[in-house]
Amino acid sequence: MSETKSTDNTTENSTPTNFIRNIINKDIAEGKNDGKVHTRFPPEPNGYLHVGHAKSICLNFGIAEDYQAPCNLRFDDTNPEKESEEFARSIQEDVSWLGFEWEGDVHHASDYFDDLYNFAEELIEKGKAYVDEQPAEDIAKNRGNFQEPGKESPYRDRPAEESLEQFRKMKAGEYPDGQMVLRAKIDMSHPNMLMRDPVLYRIRRLHHIRTGDKWCIYPMYDFTHCISDSLEGITHSLCTLEFEVNRPLYDWVLDNISAPCHPQQIEFSRLNLAYTITSKRKLTQLVESGKVDGWDDPRMPTIAGMRRRGFTPKSIRDFCAAVGISKVNSVTDMILLEDAARNDLNDTTERRMAVLDPIKVIITNYPEDKEETLQGMNHPKIEDMGTRDLPFTRELYIDRADYRESANKKYKRLVKDGEVRLRNAYVIKANDAVLDENGEVKELHCTYDPDTLGKNPEGRKVRGVIHWVSAKYAKEATVRLYDRLFNVPNPGAMDDFHDALNPESLKVIKAMVEPSLADAKPETCFQFEREGYFTADRYEHSADKLVYNRTVTLRDSWSDK
Ligand code: ATP
Ligand code: MG
Repeated sequence: MSETKSTDNTTENSTPTNFIRNIINKDIAEGKNDGKVHTRFPPEPNGYLHVGHAKSICLNFGIAEDYQAPCNLRFDDTNPEKESEEFARSIQEDVSWLGFEWEGDVHHASDYFDDLYNFAEELIEKGKAYVDEQPAEDIAKNRGNFQEPGKESPYRDRPAEESLEQFRKMKAGEYPDGQMVLRAKIDMSHPNMLMRDPVLYRIRRLHHIRTGDKWCIYPMYDFTHCISDSLEGITHSLCTLEFEVNRPLYDWVLDNISAPCHPQQIEFSRLNLAYTITSKRKLTQLVESGKVDGWDDPRMPTIAGMRRRGFTPKSIRDFCAAVGISKVNSVTDMILLEDAARNDLNDTTERRMAVLDPIKVIITNYPEDKEETLQGMNHPKIEDMGTRDLPFTRELYIDRADYRESANKKYKRLVKDGEVRLRNAYVIKANDAVLDENGEVKELHCTYDPDTLGKNPEGRKVRGVIHWVSAKYAKEATVRLYDRLFNVPNPGAMDDFHDALNPESLKVIKAMVEPSLADAKPETCFQFEREGYFTADRYEHSADKLVYNRTVTLRDSWSDK
């Protein structure tokens, strides 16, 4: 089923093998779960998904694809105050955009509120749960700590009928918020603090996006998650390492109710990406503080942000495959993500010329009224991608960085009295530079060699090739150059990560670009030759107002800095 390559445990087609797949293979071989596999992805709709979630999505849906098994999408919607329809919609959009399909309808933990309630009553009836009326501070205080065991609540051994009656009254709204809770009766001196009679239900008068005002008691995560998994027939419940301590409780709940099945929880390490943050809570703060332009700002490590920046689903999936799945916590370098994008975009994008910092070139020996239509290959290696028209005129733009008054031999561009080839066009020679009042080049006067279209000049070597656009036909484009959002590798570890925001993370420039770039549909990515990959903005780009976002540079420029 899965091939392996020893270095990064992925294959060309990125079918990864990993310890979780090994467990699943063994379970199938042993006939566990009747040989079935069923996974789920259970986000809380309290923010947009980020690149860390992409790892979990690729794992859960990737297993489903490879084992031809179902994967559910389930909203863990038990905290009404932070959840919204907008978030739920964005999550579905992101999962679909990544190219995955969930099984059947979207599920919600709130679909199971009735079942959860009934299981809670079952626990009470079995003497495994009780209503605790201690004040919240006492509950906290009596939990003890790592050194000291907890103290049992005076309500712990109350008769089941009494707890049942109180629990029903809690549900009926007879008590104010926070007055009492339902707790599991496990062990107040358990070394795992989560097992010291954890709270299962609390009273919260909150409007829920799906169940409205039907409930004034809400189940806690640890009670909800395992039961939701079981009700959906999940076989392998994959979650991140921080839930390892929750596993005994996951198992305890399912062992003590008449659960339809007992899924196996398996933990893997989170994705941490250097120079950014992968915590919804912190990303929410960035959005709310207005430091970024919303959840889908192309600098954000959200799936929506990466999409708007121009990352493709394939590049994100390839990146997740390259990161792999293990139990070892580590920090992944951004280069891995950017390389995945370069690899994909190199094969799939058409080439264009765009001059990001234009200076005018006048070809003094080119007739003023003359115009030619030259041709450029859309891809240097893939002929099937066709060609495009390139208008050539007496006045052109080239990039300021492509001209110098003098330079050594390493500089393979245009130097005063030297020659350079204009890509897809002629060889030109720089004769004069007109400077502005600040001594900056305003205009270059050049001559062209009419005999060099598609062939080398006789008897002389031309230093290099630069890109250009016709001044008459070029379109102006707003180009956004993105850099890392943070200046430090681990902004999440700072007291206030806002202090580490990179003030240069966005630079907006006016570029002159090939006319054909006006026709591009939003979200189309191109390689701007010699510059990088640029994607027409999903929302703001149009034929009248060109807006391109730099997805990634051609090479890693960060490590040179
Ligand atoms: P955050 O800490 O960003 O709020 P979360 O874990 O609270 O994340 P959920 O919506 O509960 O967010 O996550 C849904 C699933 O995605 C969970 O199974 C969770 O383990 C997984 N997940 C979240 N962050 C990461 C990450 N950085 N790497 C891998 N998986 C992740
Ligand atoms: Mg969570």
